Amino acid sequence: MEFYIPTQIYHENGAVLKHGAELASLGRKALIITGKSSAIKTGALADVIQALEDNNTEYILYDKVEENPSIKVVMDAAGIGRSQGADFVIGIGGGSPMDAAKAVALMVQNRDTSEDILYQPVKLKALPVAEIPTTCGTGSEVTPYAILTRDDKKTKQSINHKIYPVIACIDAKYLECASLSLIRNTAIDALGHLVESFFNSNATEYSNILSLCGMEKWAENRKALYNGTEFTESNYNSLLLASTIAGMAISHTGTSLPHGLSYYLTYNKGIPHGKAVGSFLPGYLSLMEKKQMPGFPEAMSKMGFKDIGEFKEFTRCCLGDICISSDDEDKMIQEILETPRKLLSVPFNASESDIRNIIQDIN
Ligand code: NAP
Ligand code: ZN
Repeated sequence: MEFYIPTQIYHENGAVLKHGAELASLGRKALIITGKSSAIKTGALADVIQALEDNNTEYILYDKVEENPSIKVVMDAAGIGRSQGADFVIGIGGGSPMDAAKAVALMVQNRDTSEDILYQPVKLKALPVAEIPTTCGTGSEVTPYAILTRDDKKTKQSINHKIYPVIACIDAKYLECASLSLIRNTAIDALGHLVESFFNSNATEYSNILSLCGMEKWAENRKALYNGTEFTESNYNSLLLASTIAGMAISHTGTSLPHGLSYYLTYNKGIPHGKAVGSFLPGYLSLMEKKQMPGFPEAMSKMGFKDIGEFKEFTRCCLGDICISSDDEDKMIQEILETPRKLLSVPFNASESDIRNIIQDIN
């Protein structure tokens, strides 16, 4: 077995300011990557700027990253970073700006400035990256993945390079202004990472310990998520802990069919990542139960669900309904079958009818 997670994590109130000197020590000029407004609304951008100014470190701000970042936005930010001499990158936001930050760090570092290198199977270095999450789902603050929208392939795909953040500063206060639907979608994305890492052909004892521990932490918030009641600081902290642990688990195993299927819904129907993933989780878990996967009862109990029916009722309440036409169903199956790598993560030989059942479990 092997396990590797190199990110220095600071998870505490005021993490950015408390560790500002270390953040600033990553280079002389930071390229800060954010979405359009949440980095300001949460106060995370102000904290990062103060940390850099306190430590006499220059910065440039790129604040145009959209949800499900495009290659175009990465190239735009990288061009600015390169021309202004940025030597490290700070991503602030949900998974979209955090993933974009990693891809930008790769593009600024390399002499070959063509976007082709994003998906080339060659080993390339990237500038140092720090990540500040403002959602509780992707775990991108510790994963080496950067998932970009590929219009050429009409889907989403992680770049070919593993870029682990050097530092992650996690502060529950940044979640305070998130809407209930954002908290629910992203918390269910984290649950997807835990489930898909646990029931995965690449799982090991190391990753399973993380998955089960993450499920237990996640379950502390099951009732608050279901009822949509006010979340406390303790809820935010345990959701962030669960999502970061889930990030460590998938860093080792990768994800599986719910993520593989979700990209079609996000690309073609604009459904947010966590909602798209979550809608396939009941079907994926049903398949694990049907195949009598040994860890199934333990996983359900750690997540705090008595059976699949209760799990399904939970995801429906939190995510709302999604309708999938039979045409969409056929296209999704075709996409998965054309990418055998996606099927290899399932811990047994999954058939076309297994995939169809996962999709049909939504309706
Ligand atoms: P997101 O796409 O980063 O953000 C969704 C929306 O939430 C944006 O409008 C954003 O606003 C807003 N937002 C973010 N934080 C907020 C806060 N605290 N309060 C209010 N609004 C806030 O959402 P995400 O679900 O975190 O990330 C999804 C992306 O991550 C997808 O592209 C997915 O493929 C990727 N992902 C990556 C990994 C990985 O391992 N790297 C794993 C799973 C998913 P702004 O636009 O203004 O910022
Ligand atoms: Zn995800």
